[in-house]
Amino acid sequence: MLLLFDIDGTLLIRATDAHAEALHAAIHEVDHVEVPDASVPTAGRTDLAIMRSLLTLAGVDAKKIDDGVQARCDAACFAYARLCPDDLSACVAPDVPDVLERLAAAGHVIGLVTGNLEPIARLKLRRAGLGAWFANGAGGFGSDHEDRSELPALARRRAAELLHGPGTAPLGRTHTVVIGDTALDVACAHADGVRCVGITTGPHRAIELIDADVVIDGMDELEGVLAEWAGA
Ligand SMILES: [Mg+2]
Repeated sequence: MLLLFDIDGTLLIRATDAHAEALHAAIHEVDHVEVPDASVPTAGRTDLAIMRSLLTLAGVDAKKIDDGVQARCDAACFAYARLCPDDLSACVAPDVPDVLERLAAAGHVIGLVTGNLEPIARLKLRRAGLGAWFANGAGGFGSDHEDRSELPALARRRAAELLHGPGTAPLGRTHTVVIGDTALDVACAHADGVRCVGITTGPHRAIELIDADVVIDGMDELEGVLAEWAGA
């Protein structure tokens, strides 16, 4: 199976303060506007989508938002490298390292589908001590597309090319699972026709994940779900 993990609220808990600060710093640097105090939704959204909401709220027009995307992404990654705590290991969700190790040993392909810009995702996971599991490039990131629902298909294509070489057909939908903690994780999985395991280790309750194929309360329940699906 190709297992596409979300980061915030799924692999890591409460590792978002420096990240949010970095997005604000990027907007300040590139667009020279103050972001209003009013909050915008962030759960499950891509960094590009969050920044667009913040900029719209600050009165920046759509063309200027589009024109500044690359500069803003570069600035956000640079700011995050400065702001990211040296050690995020205390943010790793329960059982995650052990479960990843067993899943990899069992032959599953471990990847990511996250709204984080890729350099932010990779630094965050490295500082949490999980970088080695996600070093292989399989994934879809917030820097790839503003719309999260585009990311699972991209991750399937990248994983196939990684495993079997350039030009290979994407890994099959029936062999792909998204694991995430928000309704947008569920929606992106289903937009690509792949299954989703909702997980309640983040701030979101099972009722918000009602459309997931299954909801688990912790990572230690994931292998049981996969075993059940494999035997079905
Ligand atoms: Mg999440």
